[in-house]
Amino acid sequence: MTTTAGPIVVRDPAKMADTIAHIDGKTVALVPTMGALHAGHLSLIELAKQSADIVVVSIFVNPTQFGAGEDYEEYPRTEAADLAALTSAGADIAFVPSAKAMYPQPDEVTVNPGPVGSWYEGKTRPRHFAGALTVVNKLINIVRPDVAVFGQKDAQQVYLVKTMVRDMHHRTRIVVAPILRDTDELAMSSRNKYLGRDERQAAPTLYRALREASEFAPLGIDAAVRAAQGIMMAESLAKLDYLVIVDPDNFQPVGDDYHGEALAIGAATFGDTRIIDNVSLSFP
Ligand code: AMP
Repeated sequence: MTTTAGPIVVRDPAKMADTIAHIDGKTVALVPTMGALHAGHLSLIELAKQSADIVVVSIFVNPTQFGAGEDYEEYPRTEAADLAALTSAGADIAFVPSAKAMYPQPDEVTVNPGPVGSWYEGKTRPRHFAGALTVVNKLINIVRPDVAVFGQKDAQQVYLVKTMVRDMHHRTRIVVAPILRDTDELAMSSRNKYLGRDERQAAPTLYRALREASEFAPLGIDAAVRAAQGIMMAESLAKLDYLVIVDPDNFQPVGDDYHGEALAIGAATFGDTRIIDNVSLSFP
């Protein structure tokens, strides 16, 4: 499929399903996004191109994953710039549905994210993962991709999407892209543009704290968590939400007798902006 003229833009879910149904003998990769595309998203598209013949990028600010008082209305919507970015990136199809098309009436049947959905991110954002998994489930059903690409930046989302795909018997393979960072190592995010100047300077503290946990890992889990918390407490602009070391296989917090690969996950607010990040670490 040629991409020099930019991606085919499809807005209607039935037409999207139809378009895919008429593509014979080619594999399809889906990259779900909420738009306001940055280099992190583009790295997912690159991985998608390496994983399948046709790349579909969805751009949809999904209302059901935002809680009351969150930034659904203010979330950046930059469709023209996004479509230009997709043209340069060589995406084949942009799926850009309206909220009305994805939710013709309020859903009665939704995806239940299970217990992990109410921990960490889900504790602060109670309906978030039900909304996120429901829309990913819809997107997979509409596009029927062979592969779907997600960013490790949203580690708990990756865990839950993989669990949903397993439990719902989807035939889609989940590919995970590494976290892309700015030059000061802040994980790229569409929400970073909300940060004021001082907050933007302070925001990489979360990543520094998670890395500190990794450096202190040889001294045990308590030492690693305390070291990371110390870094966060020293930054007056940071308000730590959670910082936990989890077993990547089940997302349970690890105990002090844990040995093996783990994931330090954290969230903090800088002003009104919530930042999340994670770092792999190992307990020998
Ligand atoms: P969003 O538009 O924020 O919903 O993100 C769409 C996808 O891009 C998700 O799978 C995110 O995990 C991924 N993503 C967002 N930021 C980054 C980043 N800095 N590096 C890699 N992937 C990212």
